Amino acid sequence: MTFAAIVLTLYPEMFPGPLGHSLAGRALAEGLWSLETLQIRDFATDKHRSVDDTPAGGGAGMVMRADVLSRAVDDVLTRRPDVPLLAMTPRGVPLTQPRVRALAAGPGVSILCGRFEGIDERLFEGRPIEQVSIGDYVLSGGEMAALTLLDACIRLVPGVMGAASSGTEESFESGLLEYPQYTRPNDWEGRTIPEVLRSGDHARIGAWRQSRAETDTRLRRPDLWERHGGARVGEPSGAR
Ligand code: SAM
Repeated sequence: MTFAAIVLTLYPEMFPGPLGHSLAGRALAEGLWSLETLQIRDFATDKHRSVDDTPAGGGAGMVMRADVLSRAVDDVLTRRPDVPLLAMTPRGVPLTQPRVRALAAGPGVSILCGRFEGIDERLFEGRPIEQVSIGDYVLSGGEMAALTLLDACIRLVPGVMGAASSGTEESFESGLLEYPQYTRPNDWEGRTIPEVLRSGDHARIGAWRQSRAETDTRLRRPDLWERHGGARVGEPSGAR
């Protein structure tokens, strides 16, 4: 099954962009995922093809119009009702690895990219649109956020990474950051790879990796650690 990526944007030329290269680029060429872009301006009805207007209540910038966007959104929802529709916005629910994994296992994703000051809120009131944020910072447009979301999904689409790597051991998959990685040379600037990783003892290696994943998560991401339950190695989840 091909994973369908459908992007509604004022800048279709930004796609596939970086997703035309490396892993995602090869997968696109092999037909493991497909890309369709819709120019939002094509759904405008006036001769200037306007998609935005001044904010109600005053203030800086422009707001994307619900009447124009709804026509674009309805076109996608009618043709692909099976594909979840996401709108990129800093006001959305933060994107997580479990959500990415669920999307990657499905038929695809449609993504509405905002610009200017954002999107008329009424668009979200009567349609199944999931508002998603990629982090607590503000981008100038939803296209980079859409590329980020797509990259995260595509690498998990069956067949893209190959059988050897399912991505299940990576950061966030178990609720923790991944353990640190090392490779040759063994001695670099006087720093050596931890002895345990060169021991060949897979039980010790596994225990060391689990311990480092827990320690690094606790120190670097107390929010994740708290959600994980804060269990130490060998303790049941939730124990203190
Ligand atoms: N005025 C908006 C606010 O303060 O919430 C920010 C609008 S931003 C300049 C323009 C567009 O960029 C948004 O509509 C959204 O599509 C996209 N965007 C910006 N930051 C984002 C983020 N953290 N996650 C997802 N999309 C984002």
